Amino acid sequence: MSGCGLFLCSVAARFCRAPAAFTVSRRPLLTSPPSRAFAKDLFLGKMKKKEVFPFPEVSQDELKEINQFVGPVEKFFTEEVDSRKIDQEGKIPDETLEKLKSLGLFGMQVPEEYGGLGLSNTMYARLGEVISLDTSIAVTLAAHQAIGLKGIILAGSKEQKARYLPRLASGEHVAAFCLTEPSSGSDAASIRTRATLSADKRHYILNGAKVWITNGGLANVFTVFAKTEVVDSDGSVKDKMTAFIVERDFGGVTNGKPEDKMGIRGSNTCEVHFENTRVPVENVLGEVGGGFKVAMNILNSGRFSMGSMVAGMLKKLIEMTAEYACTRKQFNRNLSEFGLIQEKFALMAQKAYVMESMAYLTAAMLDAPGFPDCSIEAAMVKVFSSEGAWTCVSEALQILGGSGYIRDYPYERLLRDSRILLIFEGTNEILRMYIALTGLQHAGRILTARVNELKRGNVTTIMETVGQRLRDSLGRTVDLGLTGKLGVVHPSLADGAHKLEENVYYFGRSVETLLLRFGKAIVEEQLVLKRVANVLMNLYGMTAVLSRASRSIRLGLRDHDHEVLLANIFCSEAYHQNLFTLSQLDKHSPENLDELVKKVSQQILEKRAYICTHPLDRAP
Ligand SMILES: Cc1cc2nc3c(=O)[nH]c(=O)nc-3n(C[C@H](O)[C@H](O)[C@H](O)COP(=O)(O)OP(=O)(O)OC[C@H]3O[C@@H](n4cnc5c(N)ncnc54)[C@H](O)[C@@H]3O)c2cc1C
Repeated sequence: MSGCGLFLCSVAARFCRAPAAFTVSRRPLLTSPPSRAFAKDLFLGKMKKKEVFPFPEVSQDELKEINQFVGPVEKFFTEEVDSRKIDQEGKIPDETLEKLKSLGLFGMQVPEEYGGLGLSNTMYARLGEVISLDTSIAVTLAAHQAIGLKGIILAGSKEQKARYLPRLASGEHVAAFCLTEPSSGSDAASIRTRATLSADKRHYILNGAKVWITNGGLANVFTVFAKTEVVDSDGSVKDKMTAFIVERDFGGVTNGKPEDKMGIRGSNTCEVHFENTRVPVENVLGEVGGGFKVAMNILNSGRFSMGSMVAGMLKKLIEMTAEYACTRKQFNRNLSEFGLIQEKFALMAQKAYVMESMAYLTAAMLDAPGFPDCSIEAAMVKVFSSEGAWTCVSEALQILGGSGYIRDYPYERLLRDSRILLIFEGTNEILRMYIALTGLQHAGRILTARVNELKRGNVTTIMETVGQRLRDSLGRTVDLGLTGKLGVVHPSLADGAHKLEENVYYFGRSVETLLLRFGKAIVEEQLVLKRVANVLMNLYGMTAVLSRASRSIRLGLRDHDHEVLLANIFCSEAYHQNLFTLSQLDKHSPENLDELVKKVSQQILEKRAYICTHPLDRAP
């Protein structure tokens, strides 16, 4: 077990690196809460309440400012954006792009000193709710600023910022992020694009091909990742990834024709080729050899916004489908009178409420001073909201029945559009591995000594553990201080709070058992890691809704009773799911079917086919 923490650290990093401290000149929130990253401690069965309670506030002034941005953008999207046409023609009209630029939407998070709006993460999340009303536009804008130009904000020098950001913020120039290659997708470190230093050491000569680059055919400025030779401290020469700012005007930059995609058809996705492109050495972004970290920092810093974007889309869907359900008659009754239709509305509202709560909690953490590492939280928001989008859009389409399948209605387009969310910005499989391994690494570091004692057979530690397990098996009352005298959760949510406390405690116990059982080998146990990630996502969701609903009650916000209902439903469902999942993590549990599942898939993959004989076949 010794060194398990370190080993897990390197594996988690392979999947997705945590952001290092970076300097961003961004409008700070006046009322930013004292939050720091929170999720890692859940792996120890602990909750740092102060990080997540009370739910973050913004001041009246900031709220006014946010609404000033939101109003005109919402009006534009509602009245002028023709999403059906964008989807059919596979292109965002030039006049729409021009209007987006004039609204400042190409420079939302670019600092004001460089001509952008300098929005905090919270404000960015709020605008995202509106922008998501057209998914092609949302993806185009996100590729430009959440990944395309973000590297310049996070890792760029003063000169690079001054040179590139003003024209990117205004939209005069469009940005793209070039990481993926034909043979390198999730395994980003395996890229083959190469940059070689010229003889006079003034340029890098860039050669390689990138695929599926959003804005690839529109962009003037590319953040490109390539392998470079780097001399290590011991004098050896190694290939390491470096990030570059590449202008189309440098020469040798070409792009393929737009891909014919399933959804987000108005966004531009192309191959981008670099052939002997001469990139000045001043255009290295960050350190030579530090490109992997730059790439992961960019991706980690933007993921949280998917939560508010999807929530924005779901709110619109609820409005549209509620109108339909309340007017469409079958069996002489409105669809809205049938339990199975009603259930779908509760599901959509619950998912929207949870993802919105997680997203704004995470945005506030990111806005807090000191730039805490919120990469686990952001990854959880991404996974939860992308899967919520897919489930809910499908349910919304179902409410329409046959009409939902017809192109005159927007539901089939939204279904096609939302499928990508599970794939890009880190696939959900990779992110689940990242969430679990990063947390286990944290726990591994702290628990190593205790686990070693257990392995060595230290009698005191063993007795302690046996006692703990016995008390656990008798059903202990867990009190992490969410309720009671110094409680932070409103009494009307006490039941959800107790469920969360119990789940957190037993999650910590399971983590310790897993580390003891698997040690380093846990990195290969993907079915186990997936469950760890799933429990954690539920815990974070429960925390976020309990915190938010408590605030709403305390402030007497409109319809807070409805929020309490949603929070209670989610906490109860998540609690029972967690109990089941935690029981599956037990090696000897009858609920754990991993060995059978592995056997079935092994047999299929060996034959590369469905193995069973046809139901009509007879023995010879
Ligand atoms: C519309 C669109 C826009 C895009 N925009 C950009 C862009 O702007 N810039 C850019 O650089 N890239 C972009 N991409 C690429 C995108 O980020 C990749 O598609 C994504 O990272 C996955 O890589 P892949 O498609 O090669 O899948 P693969 O990595 O081949 O994965 C295939 C499947 O295997 C799973 N898998 C892979 N490795 C593991 C593992 N270790 N354990 C378990 N499961 C695993 C994956 O989760 C996935 O389900 C875009 C893609 C699309 C479709």
